[in-house]
Amino acid sequence: MSTTIRIALNRPIRRLFDYKGPADPAAPLQPGQRVRVPFGRQSAVGIVTETGVTPPEGITLKPVQCALEDWPLIPQETLQLLTWAANYYQHPLGECLFTALPPALRKGHAAVLKEEASWQPARDAHPSQLPGNAQKQKALLKWLLTRDQPASAPDIRQAGFTTAQANALATKGFLEQATLQAFRTHPLPELSTAQKAAYAQLPAANNRFSAALLYGVTGSGKTEIYLHYLQEQLSQEQQALVLVPEINLTPQTVARFHRYFGDRVATWHSALNDRERLRTWLRIRRGEPVILIGTRSAAMLPFTRLGALIVDEEHDSSYKQGEGFRYSARDLAVYRAHLNKCPVILGSATPSLESVNNTLTGKYTLTKLEERAGGALPPTMKLLDIRSRPLEGGLAAPSLTAIRESLAKGQQVLVYVNRRGYSPVMMCFDCGHLLECPHCDSRLTYHRRDRAMRCHHCDYQSAAPEFCPSCHTGAMKPIGQGTERAEDVLAGTFPETPIIRIDRDSTQRKGSIQALLKQVNQGDPCILVGTQMLAKGHDFHKVTLVIVVNADGGLFSTDFRAPEQMTQTLLQVSGRAGRGKEPGLVLIQTCHSDHPLLTALIGGDYLSIARQLLEERRPGGLPPFRSMAILRAEGDTMEDSIQFLDNVRTRFSHLPDAPSVELWGPLPATIARRADRHRAQLILLCSSRSPLAKLLQSLCNELDGTPPAKGVRWQIDVDPIESG
Ligand code: ADP
Ligand code: ZN
Repeated sequence: MSTTIRIALNRPIRRLFDYKGPADPAAPLQPGQRVRVPFGRQSAVGIVTETGVTPPEGITLKPVQCALEDWPLIPQETLQLLTWAANYYQHPLGECLFTALPPALRKGHAAVLKEEASWQPARDAHPSQLPGNAQKQKALLKWLLTRDQPASAPDIRQAGFTTAQANALATKGFLEQATLQAFRTHPLPELSTAQKAAYAQLPAANNRFSAALLYGVTGSGKTEIYLHYLQEQLSQEQQALVLVPEINLTPQTVARFHRYFGDRVATWHSALNDRERLRTWLRIRRGEPVILIGTRSAAMLPFTRLGALIVDEEHDSSYKQGEGFRYSARDLAVYRAHLNKCPVILGSATPSLESVNNTLTGKYTLTKLEERAGGALPPTMKLLDIRSRPLEGGLAAPSLTAIRESLAKGQQVLVYVNRRGYSPVMMCFDCGHLLECPHCDSRLTYHRRDRAMRCHHCDYQSAAPEFCPSCHTGAMKPIGQGTERAEDVLAGTFPETPIIRIDRDSTQRKGSIQALLKQVNQGDPCILVGTQMLAKGHDFHKVTLVIVVNADGGLFSTDFRAPEQMTQTLLQVSGRAGRGKEPGLVLIQTCHSDHPLLTALIGGDYLSIARQLLEERRPGGLPPFRSMAILRAEGDTMEDSIQFLDNVRTRFSHLPDAPSVELWGPLPATIARRADRHRAQLILLCSSRSPLAKLLQSLCNELDGTPPAKGVRWQIDVDPIESG
């Protein structure tokens, strides 16, 4: 007798589908297995979520066409994780499960990979040793040198080269065939006394869940601790997951892991091609003892033998997916540690208030590492009040003097500007007209390099006008500072010094960020100008001076997380100063040098600031004191959006358990109109997680049953990091 099987499909619908299982009792289907099923007039790939389901009465179920393999593609623990996540984040299970598969497996291709020969650069191979007419071979060698793993023939073809070119390079001795022992491993350097003390406080991996917050100031050598931890706590058979915010920005971290763990290290990030994804996914699924360094989505890889998890820079906002399946990779990692009864270490110099609070309530242990590694001193931080000071392109005279002095000593300088582009505002000096996006409630940013006005909230762009489009006489003038403007001003003031701009615009081309960082790490005097991309984990040894052009952005924001985020960014960017032999200086330009948050910040003790900020959130019951979810709606008019949320609010009050939830709104979002859609939101706060999840679930079910009128679209964001 065949059983009834419940199946999740890769569709944006919350329901699952029942099918008749295969008649052959010798091969019963299991949860996590991949099948092909008839769906409508076509067939679809599905994942079995349940077997032995009670069949619905009066309906003849269609049978499963076939199983795509005779083992569960998604192993039991990963299935449990994703089922939890689907419920917790209110996202359709099918989409969650398919998000966790590499593209090839989503499409139904076989879960095998034919291994082909692969190449890596020979030791000391350098493109400059090739003759000038071998341009393509040069480019191929350059490309191989930027990679952190060997490239197979398909990888090479996908990157626009040919295997003939690779063979030619191999014949000349520039490439060698990669073997599994390609990376030589080295012994770990010894931990400093302070690092040893911190290490000793971390939980041992002894088949118990534990979560530890490693609060280590910038430059304290947290990576070194992770390396030692994995080396000592992980058995030869176990797997480990190391989450990092962005791999591209800190290639040295991956290099260090490779150095010590060789081919046990694998990476997972958006720059991998489909084949590389499949290869790594299968290695992990096979249970190979991989140490996986990956970005957000690595939290969903099919580990079967996890022995430890590490979340580096655990406060980083990139761990939260901003659209679709809005999960937090950090929180998935903690949940996985639960499932696997193993430790998870959350590291940061500026931990999230959620994690700090968890140390106060005893959920996490707290380990402090308050001294920098290698004898480096903490940077000196100073506030520079710029009220009524003449500025040159946003920089005050003392800042320019400090830059000049550092450069004269052969050191490097970092100038942090919180916006990309030339200026965030363009105004007519005759009539006061401001250039605004025709589709959003926002100003257009002037991008001088391309003579364009761009909206940073939608795709809109137009040519920068010479005269005011309103009064037709006045000239348009840029107001405020962006990275491009700072770059121009600095280039004018320091014509001899290379200026390296690092922001989303300057790093769009593949490999460009690596090239820029390489230039910085060569150590010659230069000025780095950039956005928060510069605040992320970089270990620049020659940067001694950091200038923050304007610290005031977060001081008066309506988002309750703004003070936390501002503190984190300022301390992280400051933490790039003085990591080498020379001490560091940070000058923070501000119009509010007496603001308590800024004065606390230059004291530099992040944990006391964090506790203070927590106290400010407590009376209002803001996260982490209550769980928050946001129901966002967008319609053709604001009235439609508000009306929809008002209806939801009314329905909500009829649900059981509703009294435990406090509702705020509906209110228009901070940017009320974006890409011609009018956005409003309803905020839900609840003293504990599970009733909120249950309520949201019944709400989703209701809303799914009755699609909103007038094309209003809605989504739920659980534990949002933006609430404006
Ligand atoms: P963090 O991530 O905590 O900001 P890093 O891990 O980048 O710090 O380490 C900062 C610098 O200190 C790196 O250049 C690293 O090589 C160096 N370092 C770390 N631990 C040691 C140690 N035990 N001995 C010498 N240098 C160390
Ligand atoms: Zn716009």
